[in-house]
Amino acid sequence: MNRILIAEDEERIASFVEKGLRANGFTTTVAADGDTAYEFALTGGFDLVVLDIGLPGRDGFTVLRQLREARSTVPVIVLTARASVTDTVAGLEGGADDYMTKPFRFEELLARVRLRLRTAARAPEVTVLRSGDLSLDLRTRRAQAGGRMVDLTAREFVLLELFLRHPGQVLSREQILSHVWGYDFDPGSNIVDVYVRALRKKMGAERVETVRGMGYRLPARRPDEPEPSY
Ligand code: CA
Repeated sequence: MNRILIAEDEERIASFVEKGLRANGFTTTVAADGDTAYEFALTGGFDLVVLDIGLPGRDGFTVLRQLREARSTVPVIVLTARASVTDTVAGLEGGADDYMTKPFRFEELLARVRLRLRTAARAPEVTVLRSGDLSLDLRTRRAQAGGRMVDLTAREFVLLELFLRHPGQVLSREQILSHVWGYDFDPGSNIVDVYVRALRKKMGAERVETVRGMGYRLPARRPDEPEPSY
């Protein structure tokens, strides 16, 4: 899993970083402002964030601080102008894993991205996601619903993982689309609905709720709550 969020408003730089990372086998998503970057990073669908400090909306410092406040542990590499390194270092306390000054060589960024991903991979992490009697083992890629094993395709797995990382939270079609399929997909596509239907068919219709006009939600149910009857 090497999904990288690039939070950068300068198109030229965003495209430079994106092309380079893609050429090296990473999946990338670009967010051109701080608000979008924060929302995307918080979904848990990214393994690393390359974060520019000077962003429209929330700036990079705010994005970083709010991510850490929200207990997100996603590795973050900050991009900053050379002139403001001192500010940057001060502003990063307790937040970023690394920083780079612009302009930078792509190879240097790539080396840092790889290093951060390796470090993160060594850290203990949750390997089984649960909500109620629904569980997903991220190592064996096995899903269980109500004690029954469920066979998932690769995309269904990523979709269920996204839901399980945000139980009780409404995910819009756009959010789901960009995380599971990336931005190459037509936003008018109904592929999200198709895959939600597939998940429901395999796990039970009640597992994914439709929130009209907003998107989909995995009902947050405590494990000690009785199964509702449908
Ligand atoms: Ca900028």
